[in-house]
Amino acid sequence: MTAEPAVLASQSQEILNYFGRCPRCHYPARAYLVTTVFADGKHAVATLAICDLTCGWSGPAPLTTMTPVPRPKQPAAQRESIIAARRVPPRPPR
Ligand SMILES: [Zn+2]
Repeated sequence: MTAEPAVLASQSQEILNYFGRCPRCHYPARAYLVTTVFADGKHAVATLAICDLTCGWSGPAPLTTMTPVPRPKQPAAQRESIIAARRVPPRPPR
């Protein structure tokens, strides 16, 4: 068996625009973005939801947020190819 790499650091940050609910009591849950840094330099990012009531539920959170995550802008190379495709080919001589 291969040993799991040692955890160097673990940081959790509350997702303020999370609006998911607890699957047990349907009370609004809190969600945290948990970033774990391993000794081999790898990062693991997971979302963890915790019930805001005292039912004690916690689990992986589907990212249900009110504000959508901004999409990365299209790379310039792709825009160039769209412009190139729109270019009209030269007319054949009559
Ligand atoms: Zn609950």
